[in-house]
Amino acid sequence: MTHKILVLAGDGIGPEIMEATELVIGALVKRFGLDVSLEHALMGGAAIDDCGEPLPASTLDLARRSDAILLGAVGGPKWEKIDRARRPERGLLALRSELELFCNLRPAVLFAPLAASSTLKPDVVAGLDIMIIRELTGGIYFGEPRGIEVAPDGTRSGRNTMVYNEHEISRIARLGFDIAGKRQGRLCSVDKANVLETTELWRDIVTSLGDEYPAIELSHMYVDNAAMQLVRNPKQFDVIVTSNLFGDVLSDLASMLTGSIGMLPSASLDADGKGMFEPVHGSAPDIAGQDLANPLATIQSLAMMLRYTLDESAHAERIERAVARTLDKGYRTGDIYSDGMQKIGTRAMAEQVVTALGD
Ligand code: NAD
Repeated sequence: MTHKILVLAGDGIGPEIMEATELVIGALVKRFGLDVSLEHALMGGAAIDDCGEPLPASTLDLARRSDAILLGAVGGPKWEKIDRARRPERGLLALRSELELFCNLRPAVLFAPLAASSTLKPDVVAGLDIMIIRELTGGIYFGEPRGIEVAPDGTRSGRNTMVYNEHEISRIARLGFDIAGKRQGRLCSVDKANVLETTELWRDIVTSLGDEYPAIELSHMYVDNAAMQLVRNPKQFDVIVTSNLFGDVLSDLASMLTGSIGMLPSASLDADGKGMFEPVHGSAPDIAGQDLANPLATIQSLAMMLRYTLDESAHAERIERAVARTLDKGYRTGDIYSDGMQKIGTRAMAEQVVTALGD
């Protein structure tokens, strides 16, 4: 069966990292028999420039008809002054919510040769392999009412609403238990149940679901402690499941344990396991168009797509092995460079991964 992949390169470094990733796709097709068809569409700032909308109806339609979506990054200074509702990032939020991509998987894995790139001591992070599962379509980022109100005396108040219903909590928690079952069998649910009622409900529901998964070791942690523990002793975690807001912050924190945001992939899945795959980083306008961006986060996002949505684990493993070998050989983009290594650009890094596919 031919897998239909929609490619949304987006803005800034998006087109460069996507071109690099397409080199890897091309090699898998040609040399290893992967059967995919690629379609390309506009999204984010590039779409605003083209038709005034960050998520054109035609792109959404293609997204619905694809088996999986590969996204570069959206946004940049050019579009920062336009109306908030029509900014590039709004297109991304709309796409996640239209496709009900409620489950965000963000692995934080440290490749052994990059231990020196982390700001933490190598012995704290060596061998790190955490999966952070963030709820993506609920919580305070979507809750109503929201907005900035002006009182009759001119005083302004900002309001957002943190709300989760039982269904939203249990579906993300179940995925947490399932994914922990495929890893080391340990799930840590992160909340702020001592202060926020929404997360008191979260803890209740996760705890009762725990009875259905006796093989999984379930623990709970307050988000402030989780932030501290991730820096103090990150290897204590296997899988973390948490809400939209807490997951946003903790996954960025975890990303820095691994050295560079340029190394981190992510997956956003719906209830059927279909989804969108994208690097964790943004459009990096400061280095766009200079062949400086690290394409490995996007290349590894492709591997996640092959594993989690397209059921092509052998190809996913092939990519992951090739990335590890490329790093072993000493090739580095600027963001992960250290003395004695060989500094190369975006395209050359992808070419090295392509070479290593056959090693
Ligand atoms: P950013 O992730 O784009 O960049 C942060 C820093 O990391 C920059 O110094 C950048 O050069 C570096 N960096 C990022 N990706 C890299 C890579 N692959 N290789 C090497 N270095 C890399 O975050 P930002 O600067 O806060 O945001 C820039 C724009 O991206 C903004 O418009 C923001 O809204 C948008 N953004 C988009 C997404 C997304 O599309 N999912 C996510 C975050 C930010």
